[in-house]
Amino acid sequence: MKPALGMLAAAAVLGLVSCAQVPPASQESISGYVGEAERLAGSDLKALLVLCKPAPAARPSQAAIDKLLAAMIARPAPEPGRAFDNLYFVGSAWVSAWAIKTSQGVILLDALNNEDEAERLIDGGMRKVGLDPSDIKYIVVTHAHGDHYGGVEYLVPRYRSAVVASDVDWQQLEGKLEFNSALWGPVPKFNAARDRRVNDGDKVALGDTSVTIYITPGHTHGTITPTFEVKSGGRTHKVLLWGGTAFNFGKDVPRLQNYIDATERMAKIAREEGIDVLISNHGGYDDTVAKLDAIRKGAPSNPFVIGNDAVVRGLQAMGECAKAQRDRYILEK
Ligand SMILES: [Zn+2]
Repeated sequence: MKPALGMLAAAAVLGLVSCAQVPPASQESISGYVGEAERLAGSDLKALLVLCKPAPAARPSQAAIDKLLAAMIARPAPEPGRAFDNLYFVGSAWVSAWAIKTSQGVILLDALNNEDEAERLIDGGMRKVGLDPSDIKYIVVTHAHGDHYGGVEYLVPRYRSAVVASDVDWQQLEGKLEFNSALWGPVPKFNAARDRRVNDGDKVALGDTSVTIYITPGHTHGTITPTFEVKSGGRTHKVLLWGGTAFNFGKDVPRLQNYIDATERMAKIAREEGIDVLISNHGGYDDTVAKLDAIRKGAPSNPFVIGNDAVVRGLQAMGECAKAQRDRYILEK
């Protein structure tokens, strides 16, 4: 005899059944996943719950993309700032870029929307916080969307930085893009003498620092979620930057399943590795600006250090939102 649907859904919510027994999609399953995401997010990770809002079944139109981008790019940029001894925020109000300072130069995570932002916010921001942009040895592009690579063509000719993207997302950049906009800088062109195509488990090492590359497919098929160590107050912490968050690819159930699998895998890795910092490449998901402000005002402890349990809960909450969206798509005929 099959247990009642409600019981299964409740069991899934309680984590009593594994992925082997996924309850069929229903309004009940959707509200169960959303409820579980809310429980996991608690009061500290509420910013992630925007992901639980229903996503559109179709990709936005070009006009809608351009309108959104123009509004986002027009937002006044926050001050750059130091999140850890060796990690600096040099991003815009909407999209983040992070500079990891090593003993042999800088690893930059993402390059913002376009050359103007790269000049003002990355180049200018690094100088403001005491870094030299000519030290950028690597630019890791977390995924093949222009808000993360658009500034590459400003930086690379000046600083000869190597561009790092996943093999899968390089293929995307070399082929048909999922999104494009005239507001984004040019698509990077792979230079075999300089750039790197990375795969899951690869490392980007520079001086005393090593960034581990995890491929977390979903937002794009080759999204990079990097992990690395940072220091603050004499202590070492471990950071995970979730490399692609929103469901903006339209109705695609297998892709959402990949996303769910990636959150589950990374939650397990985060638990095993004791990762205690979860950041994003969009400041709306991790409250970067407020946390930097708190540090400037002399916060007694580093607000970016949320603890291992919270990192795991954050990844699981995103996974539950993805399950809810998967089931919404399944129910949409
Ligand atoms: Zn994206």
